[in-house]
Amino acid sequence: MDALQGISASTGAALGPFQVMAAALPRPSSTKSTLVPAQELENLHHAAKTISDELAARASRTTGEAKEILEASSEIAQDSALLSTAESLINKGYGSAYAMWEASEVFSQLLIEAGGYLAERASDVGNIRDRIICVLSGVGYPEIPHLDQAFVLIARDLSPADTTDLKPGQVLAIVTEEGGPTSHTAIIARTLGIPAVVACKGVVEAAKKEEKAGSGIVGVDARGGVVTFNPSPELAAELAALTQSITARRSKKAIRGRSGYETTDGVTIPIYANIGRLADVDVAINAGADGVGLLRTELLYLDRQTPPTLEEQRDIYTQAFTPFAGKKVVIRTLDAGADKPMAFISFADEPNPALGVRGYRTIAINKELLTTQLEAIADATKTSGAEVWVMAPMITLPEEAENFVVLAKDFGIKSAGVMIEVPSAVLLADEITSVCDFVSIGTNDLGQYLHAADRESAALAHFNDPWQPALLNAVHRVASSGSANNCPVGVCGEAASDPTLAAVLMGLGVTSLSCNVSTLADVATALTSLSHLEMRKAAKAALRARNAEDAKNFAREHLHPLSALGL
Ligand code: PEP
Ligand code: MG
Repeated sequence: MDALQGISASTGAALGPFQVMAAALPRPSSTKSTLVPAQELENLHHAAKTISDELAARASRTTGEAKEILEASSEIAQDSALLSTAESLINKGYGSAYAMWEASEVFSQLLIEAGGYLAERASDVGNIRDRIICVLSGVGYPEIPHLDQAFVLIARDLSPADTTDLKPGQVLAIVTEEGGPTSHTAIIARTLGIPAVVACKGVVEAAKKEEKAGSGIVGVDARGGVVTFNPSPELAAELAALTQSITARRSKKAIRGRSGYETTDGVTIPIYANIGRLADVDVAINAGADGVGLLRTELLYLDRQTPPTLEEQRDIYTQAFTPFAGKKVVIRTLDAGADKPMAFISFADEPNPALGVRGYRTIAINKELLTTQLEAIADATKTSGAEVWVMAPMITLPEEAENFVVLAKDFGIKSAGVMIEVPSAVLLADEITSVCDFVSIGTNDLGQYLHAADRESAALAHFNDPWQPALLNAVHRVASSGSANNCPVGVCGEAASDPTLAAVLMGLGVTSLSCNVSTLADVATALTSLSHLEMRKAAKAALRARNAEDAKNFAREHLHPLSALGL
């Protein structure tokens, strides 16, 4: 079978069986049912009971919090308030699937208004609704499949919430038809160390065909984004060897300096980790991170229906900071909106959410969210022993930067800065770096806004290649402004997770890097095997390129030690 070409989103390779994830459920049609209401009512009650029993059975096989959630979900599936709303719609002539969908919306709202424990259950209602509708429609529920052996997960797209649930030992690789290399799903895959290929056109169709044919092995070379069903014995052997050599290199530790990693000519480079879950803390420490360069706080609250309270936030930040006592943690205030909608923030329907109210802009409408968060961060910092720096996402104007820094300091936060990820902030980097204690470049968003290309779009993925010369020039400009204003400039976008590009970013003048935990060891290996002089030469060459491919090739001419390392 011919190879399919996608875009690499998380390096590595895999060879093994595959599973196709079913598509998400669409809202059922509101056209009136052709069945009599009595039949629709019977169907509804049968489906609700089926799901309630299924969830109760799953609860009996688990323990702890998962058990409690499954038990509560089993009860919700048969809740009289939920079902009676659906029944009254059915009695008006609607189909049971549509009635269930509508009733769940009303029911979720009721739970949210009730507050407390009930409000927390609201996030489960959508999931229960989908399960019931699947029974009504006679289709399988689109959840992450399970197999006794590890497999390659193939999906049209995955939501960040689906991806967070993945277990690296269980999923060998992810291949999606949609998405771009800097989508949040791709970032989470990298964090989990799962090889991933996105924007792989035709992969779902091809996988379904292969499934029918009864074959079932796929090879994924995520470095080049190549996916091959039924690989030849030669390719299979090559992929198996590649998987082994990547595992072996990742298990070796790069030589660390006393704080940070040292280049061959003695320049110290701090390498921090990007994290978004408490579970990432230990992984970051074990990977040799000098601290955290980006704690994406919104990822802690993706499934929340109500805003996290001051106490809850204080608690979770304390847990995240304390293991880094004596080290730096850069925490980012909520970056909600666009591809990270949050149920507890109401967003207007916008034609272009990526250009809409997101990131720091949500704060203009929900100021209390920011002040509560800053207070919790300041409190957690005091007891943690970590050096905590705070930054705001999606800053567009110098006055936003200044307002944020002043506000953070009012809460007693010592070091406050902003992300540079909007082109206006690059052009005004002089002004911004003169009012901030530090800045951090978000190359993922900066790439999408510089090229006017949605980072989630598979069709436009080449614009979001972090080697694009416009992006490299933007980084250079910000680094120069930072240096003139004595303001440290880090890069925390995914560009810093590519070992070759990490070297180029250092050559462009940035002062630290924050990368994905899964690639940190490779980035450290690259930086400790090169001199800072080589990095500067590579950066100078890359800046002259006219496209991403040339930029990489020109840079590699000055970075020969990397080839010998297989990087
Ligand atoms: C970025 O945009 O580069 C960034 C680090 O932020 P996020 O990926 O969370 O938008
Ligand atoms: Mg961003």
